[in-house]
Amino acid sequence: MNPELIVNGASGRMGRRIIALAIESGKFDIVGASERAGHPDSGTDAGVLAGSKAINVPVSDVLPSTADVMIDFSLPEAFDKTLNYCAENKVALVLGTTGLSESQLNRVKQASELIPLIQATNMSVGMNVLFSIVGKVASLLGPDYDIEIVEQHHRFKKDAPSGSALTLAKNVAAARNLPYPSCLVNGRSGKEALRQADTIGMHAVRAGDITGEHDVIFSTLGETVTLSHSAHNRDNFVRGALRAALWLVGKNPGMYSMTNVLGLGCF
Ligand code: NAD
Repeated sequence: MNPELIVNGASGRMGRRIIALAIESGKFDIVGASERAGHPDSGTDAGVLAGSKAINVPVSDVLPSTADVMIDFSLPEAFDKTLNYCAENKVALVLGTTGLSESQLNRVKQASELIPLIQATNMSVGMNVLFSIVGKVASLLGPDYDIEIVEQHHRFKKDAPSGSALTLAKNVAAARNLPYPSCLVNGRSGKEALRQADTIGMHAVRAGDITGEHDVIFSTLGETVTLSHSAHNRDNFVRGALRAALWLVGKNPGMYSMTNVLGLGCF
């Protein structure tokens, strides 16, 4: 029997793709497609809204009485209702919403005593694999390799460097015993901009509609090794979230990570 899935933020860009790919996978029974009260899509069949087939589940602010797992890609404003519902009804939670406050993240930890939970700001399988190997590559290459991280995103992205670029830098810094975040040098300009040893250069390009590019450059005299990740569209996050949801169903209460889901703990 397939796990019963609720998609929270069902009308959003991520929510619609989660519904579409969950249907396509044939591995879930979607039992809820939740949205904020008064959303103009309320009452519309969630499968049709997602550009897939009708599934007889209307978009609604009313959550079903039971489910195995919820995937939430909504907004921090939805957080209290989402977490309370999952904790009270013992529904496993894949939490992809970003921008949560410290107190919200603390509440996530508390809720993980009651339900199995995964919270990750980047659920892409490829990026999580890169997170897990980048430190290993840094330590294998050794201190004579300069490290620069170049990330590219669309013109609408507000923050820089990206959260993923910072995670990559943090993992590299840990592997090279560099003080994080003081080892980071954001961009370079001016006449005294010579590269210093034991620093990680961070560069953020913002242009057009680039979905997301991350290059970690390791360079020494004579050669360069570059690890690259390229996001073609949002489906890489969606596939990671669906994989996390399948993995999470039936687990004991606790806080899990994409590292657990993907079995990456060995690096
Ligand atoms: P979006 O604005 O297109 O969709 C958000 C949806 O949530 C909207 O349809 C909105 O109406 C709905 N919503 C608002 N309040 C709600 C409530 N109380 N209950 C239910 N639904 C509610 O945004 P998006 O691009 O789909 O992204 C959603 C979230 O996912 C953002 O926080 C984004 O940063 C995050 N995100 C995370 C990852 C990851 O890998 N973790 C990847 C991509 C996006």
